[in-house]
Amino acid sequence: MFAANIFSISFDATILSSPIEFLKGVGPLRADMLKKELGIFTFKDILDHFPLRHIDKTKVNPISSVTPASDYVQVAGTVTNSVLMGENRGRRLVATIKDSSGEMELVWFQGINWIQKSLQVGQTYLVYGKAGFFNGMPQITHPEMEVFTPEKSGGKAFLEPVYPSTEKLKAKSLGGRQIGKLTFSLLSSLKESDLPENLPASFLQHYGFPSRFNAYQQIHFPSSDKQYRQAINRLKFEELFIAQLRLGLIRLERHRYSKGVIFSQVGELFNSFYHHHLPFELTGAQKRVLKEIRQDMGQGRQMNRLLQGDVGSGKTMVALLSMLLAADNGFQSCLMAPTEILANQHFQGISSLLSEMPLKVALLTGSTRAAGRRKILAALANGDIHLLIGTHALLEDKVQFNNLGLAIIDEQHRFGVEQRARLWKKAAIPPHILVMTATPIPRTLAMTAYGDLDYSIIDELPPGRQPITTVHRYEYARATVMDFIRSEIDKGRQAYIIFPLIEESEKLDLENLMRGYENVKAFFPEPKYWISMVHGKQAPEVKETNMQRFVSHDTQIMVSTTVIEVGVNVPNASVMVIESAEKFGLSQLHQLRGRVGRGAEKSFCILLTGTQITNEARERLKTMCATNDGFVIAEKDLELRGPGDIEGTRQSGMLNFKLADIVQDKHLLDAAKQVAQTIIEADPTLQSEENKRLKNFLQAQKGKLAWSKIS
Ligand code: ADP
Ligand code: MG
Repeated sequence: MFAANIFSISFDATILSSPIEFLKGVGPLRADMLKKELGIFTFKDILDHFPLRHIDKTKVNPISSVTPASDYVQVAGTVTNSVLMGENRGRRLVATIKDSSGEMELVWFQGINWIQKSLQVGQTYLVYGKAGFFNGMPQITHPEMEVFTPEKSGGKAFLEPVYPSTEKLKAKSLGGRQIGKLTFSLLSSLKESDLPENLPASFLQHYGFPSRFNAYQQIHFPSSDKQYRQAINRLKFEELFIAQLRLGLIRLERHRYSKGVIFSQVGELFNSFYHHHLPFELTGAQKRVLKEIRQDMGQGRQMNRLLQGDVGSGKTMVALLSMLLAADNGFQSCLMAPTEILANQHFQGISSLLSEMPLKVALLTGSTRAAGRRKILAALANGDIHLLIGTHALLEDKVQFNNLGLAIIDEQHRFGVEQRARLWKKAAIPPHILVMTATPIPRTLAMTAYGDLDYSIIDELPPGRQPITTVHRYEYARATVMDFIRSEIDKGRQAYIIFPLIEESEKLDLENLMRGYENVKAFFPEPKYWISMVHGKQAPEVKETNMQRFVSHDTQIMVSTTVIEVGVNVPNASVMVIESAEKFGLSQLHQLRGRVGRGAEKSFCILLTGTQITNEARERLKTMCATNDGFVIAEKDLELRGPGDIEGTRQSGMLNFKLADIVQDKHLLDAAKQVAQTIIEADPTLQSEENKRLKNFLQAQKGKLAWSKIS
């Protein structure tokens, strides 16, 4: 009790922070249920529990207007008679009511005795319910009724809300409509100052928004559909706008106050590599992004940049050139990949590109042997190693740099925010961070989930790439598909055959893969054909060997699970078959497909499925066949699955909007973002009279969302 008092005084002494048990009509028992079932703890929480829909009881309809097409109706009529009819389960009470336009029947199967006693012939009632027709006569079964009084002649003054509820709450008389009684009594007791305005007056005017107080009244108990729409729009906008404002302020604060190492010069290493060892001309997009990164790292504040570029867009080269900039300025850098295969590949590729440069590159993964590891750690600590490439093994505390200036994370969605933060601590001044991902994030999602990061996009593929042709084939065409693979192999190409990880148990997955492998072998017998197999249960050396045999073209076919998904580069591979393709999500299919189409040859992706697949799966396959554009695919993915499920954004907490939906309400999000930006640019500390409300609101909310967690 004592603690609760202190809490309410020191935190926020408004009526809305009162515990829900103190709301009239709740009490301790129902309060417990509300907390457990709906997460409603305070008065404010119940105000933020918004209606699912509304029932229109504002109008009283003439009985004659009720047609078989009517849904819920409200009529006012006088009871002319009531009779019991039927036997046993068919037993029912039927009353007839009449208004000046016609007659209708009211029917009860339950509570008959009580209804019969209370229903008075000759009395006029206001009757509400779902209209039906029986023998040509309109009727309502189990209507809601109340005695009709003249002041109710126009029906209720508002649309009646129906709230989300649960079975358990219904059992405690807190069903979808009963919750409205609580909300109604709470709203009736509030003053305008209990829900103070938080948006600048000019917004309200510009958008024609109702005040905050008004919006809360109207979203729960709207006097018309129009009022409801205005209220919900305002509250959605508020939600999106406040989120954008927060993100913008966090980003600004970081830009202002985060100290970063300064890479002031483009030096000898960068220049000589650029002019003598670069194997191709950079694309325009690569140049632009590199420029953005260079500017960022030269300013004296820490870079936190997200680099998005579709599979094959050439992010690795951007990473390498950025690391050369670090080296030119006397700093070490590291590149962290999500899998050993990929780390190895980066190491091989970068080492050979840098073979004529005076730079030392090292590889550190979970399978680096103890002796080698000791050497690397020592060389790292004394600054002999310039570029360290590896897996999450880089994050271990034992890995100490001499002066880490730049950390690059490849395929970001596999790394959590905390892991990123662990990199910051590896240098006195936190290193610049570049996060690279080939999982395109729709713009709307990026704006909300990563709104505090700076953001670069490579939106151009290197020249000469042919688009991958993607087709969907059914299981029964397997032999034809295998024939096609054979014809490609006979032309000197290679093929991937990917199996899904689907079962609960790894054992079943492995069995599934083994069966698939045997099956492929039957089509492609040794010694004419050789097959590599890679899966997650193999020892790293085995995996590596098998992979390497495919890379060096000792094998023509790679049978694997999705471990191959990220980053692996075998330009000679021109076919990818994805088995049980219906089991994969869109972004994963796109990632997998990105393993082919990396060379000069025309490439193909074949999605194999059975004939029994869901409509949603069909939609995914159709999308894959229709486009190679990762951003289009990402938008489709968002549309099909909703924002909650998109990889990498789930934990961000920035998508848990109560009302707004970033897909449906994209136009509001755009507006909110723009306005937030304008405000931050003009008045970054929210000092002006106009922005005071915002500042107060953000400060009052601060406790609810730890700001530090968002970065
Ligand atoms: P991703 O963005 O998927 O990581 P990579 O960096 O692996 O792509 O690049 C894919 C392939 O394209 C590599 O073989 C790389 O050498 C090549 N590449 C990258 N940039 C260019 C370019 N500007 N011109 C030609 N080829 C390029
Ligand atoms: Mg890559």
